[in-house]
Amino acid sequence: MPLPVVRTVADLRAQVRAWRASGLSVGFVPTMGALHEGHLSLVRVARGKADRAVASVFVNPTQFGPNEDFDAYPRDEARDAELLEAAGCHLLYAPAVAEMYPQGASTTVTVSGVTDPLEGAARPGHFAGVATVVTKLLNQCGPDVAVFGQKDFQQLAVIRRLVADLDIPAEIVGAPTMRADDGLALSSRNAYLTPEERAQAPALHQVLQALLQSLRDGESVAAVESLALDALARAGFQKIDYVEVRHPATLERLGPGPATGPVRVLAAARLGRTRLIDNVGD
Ligand code: AMP
Repeated sequence: MPLPVVRTVADLRAQVRAWRASGLSVGFVPTMGALHEGHLSLVRVARGKADRAVASVFVNPTQFGPNEDFDAYPRDEARDAELLEAAGCHLLYAPAVAEMYPQGASTTVTVSGVTDPLEGAARPGHFAGVATVVTKLLNQCGPDVAVFGQKDFQQLAVIRRLVADLDIPAEIVGAPTMRADDGLALSSRNAYLTPEERAQAPALHQVLQALLQSLRDGESVAAVESLALDALARAGFQKIDYVEVRHPATLERLGPGPATGPVRVLAAARLGRTRLIDNVGD
C-alpha cells in the first residue's frame, strides 16, 4: 500500500488527532528528503518509541545560505515515499514552501550560545533557519517523540536547547550516525561527490577516529587538532572549516592540554564542491 502523504498543517493535525483519539502515540522524523539508510534508521527508532511514525520531507530554504546548494539539493519524493513505507513509516508530511512560510511570515527562532561556533560560524544564519523550521514542524505535528541524527551533532544540541527553552512537549532522541562500510557518514550530499572524491571522503572519519584515539592516549588537544588539520589537507580536503575537540553537551572548546572528561570531535571540510561534516565521540 502506498504511503499516505499530507501536504497541509490541517491534514497533518487531523491524522495525528485521530491517532491520539485511538490512544496511539506519535513519533516524528524531520528530513530534507533524498533519503538514505541514516534517515531510515531514525524512522525505525521512532517506531520503537511510538505507535505511529510520521516523517517530513521539506527542503527548508531558510537554512541555506545565498551561495549554498538549495536549488541543487536532490529531490525525489516518490523514491522517498517508497523507502519510508518499507521502513515502517505511517505518514509522510511534505508541505510546499508556501505552506511553511505563508506570505507575511515574520518570526524567526534564534538560539544563542550553542549556535555560535562550528557550523554557526561557517554558515551564518543556518541555525536560525533550522531552529525556526524545527519549531514549526514540532508545533504542526505535536509528536510525543522526535528523532534526530547525531550526524548533525550541533544541530541536535540546538534542538535540545530550543525544545527546553520553549517548553515544547516532545521528547528529543538522538540516534547514532549510519556509515558506509568504509566509514563515510551517509549523507544526501554524498551524491555530489565524483568517484575520485568518494574514494578520498572516508579519510574524514579516519582522521577523526585517529584524533580521538590520540586524545585517549593522553595527547594534548592542541597537538591532535593541529595534526588532524594537516592530515585532512594531505587527504585532499581543500577548505577545512574546523576540526575541533569540544565538550559533548555544551560544545565548549576543550584544551589546549589533554582532555580529561568526555569529548566530541567535530569537523567540516570541502572535497571539490561538496561540504562534508562528521563527528565522533565517547
Ligand atoms: P537531513 O535530511 O540531512 O536534514 O537530515 C534529516 C535527519 O537525518 C537529521 O536528524 C540528520 O541528523 C539525520 N541524518 C542524516 N544523516 C544521517 C546518518 N548518516 N545517520 C543518522 N542520521 C542521519
